Amino acid sequence: MPSAIVAQQPSDEQRRRARLVLNRLTRRYPQIGTALEYQNVWQLLVVTVLSAQTLDDTVNRVAPEVFARWPQPEDLAAANPEQVEAVIYPTGFYRQKTKSIIGLAQAISEHHGGAVPDDLDTLTELPGVGRKTASVVLAEAWDKPAIAVDTHVHRVSRRLELTANDQPVKIEADLKALYPKRRWSGISMRFIQFGREVCDAKRPRCWECPLRDLCPWPDKRLAPTR
Ligand code: SF4
Repeated sequence: MPSAIVAQQPSDEQRRRARLVLNRLTRRYPQIGTALEYQNVWQLLVVTVLSAQTLDDTVNRVAPEVFARWPQPEDLAAANPEQVEAVIYPTGFYRQKTKSIIGLAQAISEHHGGAVPDDLDTLTELPGVGRKTASVVLAEAWDKPAIAVDTHVHRVSRRLELTANDQPVKIEADLKALYPKRRWSGISMRFIQFGREVCDAKRPRCWECPLRDLCPWPDKRLAPTR
């Protein structure tokens, strides 16, 4: 299955503005990575799956017990699902997540020699691993060129008119067309942090936004009281 959707080629002006956006976010967040805590790529994959629809802090509280009780993929592959459910319960959707991480552990230990695959197509064939999770792992663990589109990346990209699309896979393609490959792995985490801190979904802090002069979004909030 092809891993890429081809976007329309952006103009020089669109590329220039996109470059300014990322340069400013890179100045604001020179070093950035996921707030999820992990010791190796296998753990990163598991905590990323557990982080769906919950706070990173919640995952960070739960994950050490998961890895203490089932340290390797083969341990989790043989785990009792009810015991796993009890441990990861605070992260929500615990039945589905248990199924996903046990399925993942089985696939990785049975078909990949216990090692997490390092390409998008193989990763997305694993149970419970979508494009977003696979891209987080590729960019975060191996600094491979990948862009994960979550709700923050989606919103920030739309407001800044880096994309006119609504589907994550098309937004990913638009961002990939705007930026050189070597910058892809540094995009998602910066957009996510910026979306949390400044370009909030309901109450964006446009009055203090470092990208305000580059942002065409018509509904800017120019004072905290409005
Ligand atoms: S000006 Fe407002 S809407 Fe535009 S990027 Fe900044 S915070 Fe977001």
